[in-house]
Amino acid sequence: MPDRITHDILAEIVEIASDAVICMDATQHITFFNRGAEVIFGWTSEEIVGQRIETLIPERYRGSHARQVEEFGRSKVRARRMGERREIAGIRKSGEEFPAEAAISQVQQGDDVVYAVVLRDVTIRQRLEQRQRFLAEAGEKLASAFGSSETLTKVAQLAVPTIADGCILENRVGSGFLAGASAHVDPHIEAILDEICLAGARIPSKDHPLTEILNSRAHVLLQPSAASRLTVASASPSYLKAMTAMNPESALFLPLVAREQLIGALTLFRTHGSFDRDDVGFAEDLARLAALALDNARLHDTVRASLRARDEMVGVVSHDLRNPVAAVKMLSRMMLREQESGGAADRENIELIAQAAEQMDALIRDLLDVNRLDAGRLAIAAAPVDPSVLLTDSLQTLRPLVEEKGIDLDLQIETALPKVLADRERIQQTLSNLVGNAIKFSPPGSKIVVAVRSDREGAVISVLDSGTGIAVEHLPRVFDRYWQSSRTNRQGAGLGLAIAKGIVEAHGGRIWIESRPGEGTTASFTLPLAE
Ligand code: ADP
Repeated sequence: MPDRITHDILAEIVEIASDAVICMDATQHITFFNRGAEVIFGWTSEEIVGQRIETLIPERYRGSHARQVEEFGRSKVRARRMGERREIAGIRKSGEEFPAEAAISQVQQGDDVVYAVVLRDVTIRQRLEQRQRFLAEAGEKLASAFGSSETLTKVAQLAVPTIADGCILENRVGSGFLAGASAHVDPHIEAILDEICLAGARIPSKDHPLTEILNSRAHVLLQPSAASRLTVASASPSYLKAMTAMNPESALFLPLVAREQLIGALTLFRTHGSFDRDDVGFAEDLARLAALALDNARLHDTVRASLRARDEMVGVVSHDLRNPVAAVKMLSRMMLREQESGGAADRENIELIAQAAEQMDALIRDLLDVNRLDAGRLAIAAAPVDPSVLLTDSLQTLRPLVEEKGIDLDLQIETALPKVLADRERIQQTLSNLVGNAIKFSPPGSKIVVAVRSDREGAVISVLDSGTGIAVEHLPRVFDRYWQSSRTNRQGAGLGLAIAKGIVEAHGGRIWIESRPGEGTTASFTLPLAE
């Protein structure tokens, strides 16, 4: 270490400093411009020496800056940090402005004063600080989102316009993606992006970036003119329309990974320019935050759904089991009393007890089936069966019920039906639910027709009644659990159709209901062919 810093050493230090070191005279003309200043401002020392310091200051600050330097000169304070009262900024040769930090000192040289300024470009630091602040606020906002769909919407609103001009958020469903939220700076384009969210799930083509994400779980950056590759790789018409409308120059696809699972994707679009390394890092931080929030929201959704299911079940059990239990209690006490007083038990009462027990048994079976459906444990043991035999057998057990109500039951079977794949007991249960409903809602003296025919999908089985029918606005709800159009005269708990749907779908079939209020209802389902 030299014990005295010589002029040469000082000159060397100034030369290699990455900060800008600039000297000016009393008239504020530049007299010295180091290498660091050349890099920051883009001017060479040769070009700038002799010019006024103003050249390096954005126009709106020039007047106040000149006055402050004069004030400083008069103050006789040796050195001062600049920008204590307000932020300072520099301007590069290219015209680009940048935030800066600077200190100024004055040195008397003979009669003259020399000002030395040391200035640092803080663009990157400021950007990092802003981003950190943004991510902290984003974390808070996402934590307060309610449910997964609101979480997705909030992520989209956070991403646009902060980091992109447009964005799409998708949930992963198997090997495909289902759009859940989108945003764009242009409201017209945003409306077009919204259409993607209304379309169903899409399976990305082999060369689509989302396929790469499925395989690698790493981000994919497309630039520039990303649009051409995206429109070529667009599977659905709504996606193609959105890409054409947006016409992005670059696109950044980010995986949403939570608990080591790929749960979705965040895609960011820029109309002009691309994403630099900083942007990608920032977007990855946002995607991490989004994945965490989405995962939490989904867990929250699941917990709420199971709580709701539990409440509904408790409601049904307490309401629908209470009546038959009360009947059994009352009737059995009555019979005990009769026996104690030496009389014989009334046969009618025994029948009522048996009926109440049947009712409870049916309800418990339904609740257990719903529970199995929820847990994905409704086992189907399907085997090839002749649909006409299946139907004839199933209806045999229902005949007494129909006759009791004075209803005609007609079976219409197409000849030479091919065999279908069915779990006999479960299909019997389905038919008994559908015919049971037809009986419940049909007047005495009317007719119920059960028909089976073959079509492309397999066998189509229909149950037609000419009962009360279902109001148009109620049709979309008939397969919902616990739903009933009228709560009065409750027979059943509103689970029959939900279970029937579960059974038919587990067979790979479809179920649907058509109805005209006042005219009647037709419930139909398909069963797949055996081969
Ligand atoms: P439940 O029969 O126990 O009420 P379901 O799930 O079988 O439950 O049916 C749900 C509701 O759909 C019924 O309560 C009724 O309002 C309506 N519904 C079903 N089938 C028919 C039908 N054949 N005619 C009129 N309404 C029907």
